[in-house]
Amino acid sequence: MAKTIIPIRAQGALAPVRAAPFTGGTLADTRGRRMHDLRISVTDRCNFRCVYCMPREVFDASYRFLPHGAILSFEEIARLARVFVGLGVQKIRLTGGEPLVRRDLPRLIELLAPLGAELTLTTNGSLLARHARALKAAGLHRVTVSLDSLDDATFRAMNDADFPVAKVLEGIEAAREAGLGPVKVNMVVKRGVNDGEIERMADFWRAKGAGTIARFIEYMDVGSTNGWRTDDVVPSAEIVRRISARWPLEPADANYEGEVAERWRYKDGAGEIGVISSVTQAFCSSCTRMRLSTEGALYTCLFAQGGHDLKALVRGGASDEALRNEIAAVWQAREDRYSEIRTAQTAKGRKVEMSYIGG
Ligand code: SAM
Ligand code: SF4
Ligand code: SF4
Repeated sequence: MAKTIIPIRAQGALAPVRAAPFTGGTLADTRGRRMHDLRISVTDRCNFRCVYCMPREVFDASYRFLPHGAILSFEEIARLARVFVGLGVQKIRLTGGEPLVRRDLPRLIELLAPLGAELTLTTNGSLLARHARALKAAGLHRVTVSLDSLDDATFRAMNDADFPVAKVLEGIEAAREAGLGPVKVNMVVKRGVNDGEIERMADFWRAKGAGTIARFIEYMDVGSTNGWRTDDVVPSAEIVRRISARWPLEPADANYEGEVAERWRYKDGAGEIGVISSVTQAFCSSCTRMRLSTEGALYTCLFAQGGHDLKALVRGGASDEALRNEIAAVWQAREDRYSEIRTAQTAKGRKVEMSYIGG
């Protein structure tokens, strides 16, 4: 079993542990969950300072982001991704930090596209208008854009970078035009901050038609820096109730097993919304996601306190077979179910930051 645990912010490579050979067959963890999705954080840096993710008091001018030599190169990422796909991963999402601040990202997409997995990207949209066409040409399938408010003042305050809504809307439009749709638009709902805008957000994207899908995310206790409190969470049941009061909704089937968002369809046929209820309705029992951090550590849960160092193996000359055995062993030992056992106490625990592990 792999035991190479690295701390919240890895300070260097730890010695790799030799994993037992994976003999094939269905790869499942201790709760019978398959490994289906891989989220890759391509940078821990971001041009926003969203209050719920990278609060400026912590991520200020003195904050030390990872140096270039510590982060995986595109070739290292692509090599690992190939091993993951060989183990059953069918969907790869690039994230961060803000993935589009990493230079030349389309080159990574060109390396990943031939693997055959579905390729998606989560972005704050700020640089999307500039890059949408190149991303599509490189082989990206779809994008998800985060947009917490349509009210310019609220949005600027939430991203804490004084970034205007209009530019993100331009990015979403560019993505649609480039063929990267349907674009999912994620709104993290925080009580007392932007919850007054739930209906407006639903209306706006409903009116746009099939090219976009609004999704509402419960504010989570990721990391240790955002000062999360239960009272800040707006339960998705309340979100669905409020939107349904305006435009009646009915539940829709998941697109695939382990889909994070719960789908709701407008009864009048005008599209759908999604809600992600990570706090009020934990979905750990169907969680099929593995995460690869910016510096090559493997995390089996968004709320993990440590990761497994793959970079040491990659840079130490490990064969593809050794990587495959290591990854399989990490997955087979996986027991995570943080959201099912979340309490006010666990929420206060020291956890890896979302900008580092990838959302
Ligand atoms: N920078 C990109 C973006 O914002 O889309 C990608 C990385 S971001 C960490 C990925 C997703 O995580 C975003 O949709 C963001 O809104 C969400 N997120 C970050 N912190 C969160 C929190 N505390 N609770 C819920 N969602 C969060
Ligand atoms: Fe940056 Fe995305 Fe985190 Fe906002 S949510 S600070 S855009 S990484
Ligand atoms: Fe998956 Fe961990 Fe989230 Fe549960 S808490 S759904 S195991 S990432």
